[in-house]
Amino acid sequence: LTAALLAAGTSARAQKKALTPAAIEQRITELLGQMTIQEKAGQLTQYSGRELTGPASTRKTDLLNQIRGGQVGSMLNVKGVTDTRAIQAEALKSRLHIPLLFGLDVIHGYQTVFPVPLAEAASWDMAAIRQSAHVAAREAAASGIHWTFAPMVDVGRDPRWGRVMEGAGEDSYLGSQIARARVLGFQGDKLGGTDAVMACAKHFVAYGAAIAGRDYNAVDLSPQQLWEVYLPPFKAAVDAGAATFMNSFNTLNGVPATGSKYLQRDILKGQWQYPGFVVSDWGSIREMVSWGYAQNVSEAAQKAITAGNDMDMENDAYFDALPQLVQQGKVDVALVDDAVRRILRKKFELGLFDDPYKFSDAKREKKVFSDPQHRVAARDVARKSMVLLKNERNTLPLSSPRKIALIGPLAKAKRDLAGGWTVIADTTRIVSALEGIRQRAGKNASVLYAKGCEATGDSRAGFAQAVETARQADVIVLCVGETWDMSGEAKSRADISLPGVQQELFQALKATGKPIVAVVFAGRPLIFNAVADQADAILYAWFPGSEGGHALADVLFGDYNPAGKLPSTFPRLMGQIPLSYQQYSTGRPVVDPQNIRYRSAYIDAPNTPRYAFGHGLSYTTFRYSDLKVSQPRMTAAETVQVSFTLTNTGSRAGEEVVQLYLRDKVASVVRPLKELKDFQKVSLQPGESRTLTFTITRDKLAFYNNDLQWIAEPGEFRLLLGAASDDIRLEADLVLID
Ligand code: BGC
Repeated sequence: LTAALLAAGTSARAQKKALTPAAIEQRITELLGQMTIQEKAGQLTQYSGRELTGPASTRKTDLLNQIRGGQVGSMLNVKGVTDTRAIQAEALKSRLHIPLLFGLDVIHGYQTVFPVPLAEAASWDMAAIRQSAHVAAREAAASGIHWTFAPMVDVGRDPRWGRVMEGAGEDSYLGSQIARARVLGFQGDKLGGTDAVMACAKHFVAYGAAIAGRDYNAVDLSPQQLWEVYLPPFKAAVDAGAATFMNSFNTLNGVPATGSKYLQRDILKGQWQYPGFVVSDWGSIREMVSWGYAQNVSEAAQKAITAGNDMDMENDAYFDALPQLVQQGKVDVALVDDAVRRILRKKFELGLFDDPYKFSDAKREKKVFSDPQHRVAARDVARKSMVLLKNERNTLPLSSPRKIALIGPLAKAKRDLAGGWTVIADTTRIVSALEGIRQRAGKNASVLYAKGCEATGDSRAGFAQAVETARQADVIVLCVGETWDMSGEAKSRADISLPGVQQELFQALKATGKPIVAVVFAGRPLIFNAVADQADAILYAWFPGSEGGHALADVLFGDYNPAGKLPSTFPRLMGQIPLSYQQYSTGRPVVDPQNIRYRSAYIDAPNTPRYAFGHGLSYTTFRYSDLKVSQPRMTAAETVQVSFTLTNTGSRAGEEVVQLYLRDKVASVVRPLKELKDFQKVSLQPGESRTLTFTITRDKLAFYNNDLQWIAEPGEFRLLLGAASDDIRLEADLVLID
């Protein structure tokens, strides 16, 4: 098919002068005047490429004619410039020549694979995250992709949920900063740039709060949690100009998000005045029938359009039902027109009416894919993402020359290091741990290898050889973790411990008495208590992408000093989940519960995590001193400066992520003991000191009260500055007066 269609696509390269917003609205009004109701319903419809060019079993008869007939608005999952151009050429044969939008899940890179989003969040580095999104957009755009279904800005506090991998972790403030960085990275400053794609903030909303981490499931949430924890990253995406939103599979307090008028019309398009469009999630309109929220697909379509869902992804609900619903007077055509207008507006803003191919061609695609700077960016953010969880007796960095035993099921892995949601990446071009470490070690150190076991499964057949290999070395680097397909969509786990017999392999190696550096690859926080207790050093490497092995070697050998900090709490035990750093004070003990009957801790475990939110070590040390608060009391109209001196007290250059938390001591709604309010990432030479300043505004003191008003109540607050949520170094009081 594509070969036959190819010839049709010629590039209209000349970029015309951008239309003014008023001129765009005028053009849309003209188009709406010409469109039939079936063309309008088609404009609101998105199909998958599989249905056009996939195997016969997945093909939809007549889709090509539907495209030629101007009755499809968008396609997803069409990969590569040859296919996007060919299919676009077909759409341009339609009566009104309205170009198609090509959407794709470009989640963490396209040709060049970047670390999974949760990993990047651990960098707390907004410039690096923005750059990663920009490179992904640049490569995707060269293939004719206009739109990525990213960033996922769902707060995730339950590591059983497989999709925590796609988000920015558990915190709303950090998540909001990252939402902004990613939207700007994908889109650039303004829609229509050559190296940019439209962003899509998803999944609106509270998908991450699905009961017990079960994917696609129901959510029951207090209004405070919704407004304080789950909505802010979406608001940040709106403020950053995210062109589109995706709603969600889950229900929220009994109403499917896809059919929620409260979420889409009242909050998003009402209160937030959102000018973009909302796409359903895959099949989520139809799923309202499964939920028992609609009698049939037609009623589901009616509920979705009424609630503010603009585009129908893979439901065939709008296309089949809207014309009749309008004719029967069940849906006001004005609702349909508004949805079409929102979609056409983006097509104009992207410049697709001037160049439907958006500068994509085979030559450009090839050139962009091979840009060496993309791999430089991937390596940069990969090493910034890695978190040094533990480092006893300065086991790391490895001082050469040494004999290294590289052991473990993930030591040679390539595909796994890419993580889930990769698009067209050539996984043979992924640098494995073994390759990265061998290259770096060069002639100075020999690197011995043994697999030991598989990541999953229960065979211990490889243990003996692994132990034998370890005996010959000075240090063991053990690469363990999850396989790439154990996190992501529909990859919830009821047991998040290190799978298979990997902990047993660790124990067998431990018996050699050699120092062990554990490197963990995963898309979520894992539980690995034996390793946590007994390893000499632990580096959490997540799924680091194309340059994973290089980035890992940079960190292990000390060419880069690690600075990653956890964006999610790591629990000790499954039964503690969900566990976030935002705990409350009951006044009762949460640790060492012996002999105290009425404790808040479990009888068999403390309430504290294995590794706290914000935790991450460095090869150097930092001193926090000289805290100064510009004034001890403030009014709501005033701002207060909080400054202190940060000193690198070690012998290596390093970066520190300084975290500012706050506690509202007494309020009309009980507040958590700590809430992240700000952070700064700073780089200091050995011995260097710098004064850092944070500004406290009324907004940082505010919360949602019982009437859902965003207010700051007069009273006492505690400011807490530190290196992690459980490593507070400086504290001071602040009083808000009337
Ligand atoms: C996922 C979305 C994704 C869409 C398209 C859905 O199943 O929930 O996040 O964007 O598929 O691939």
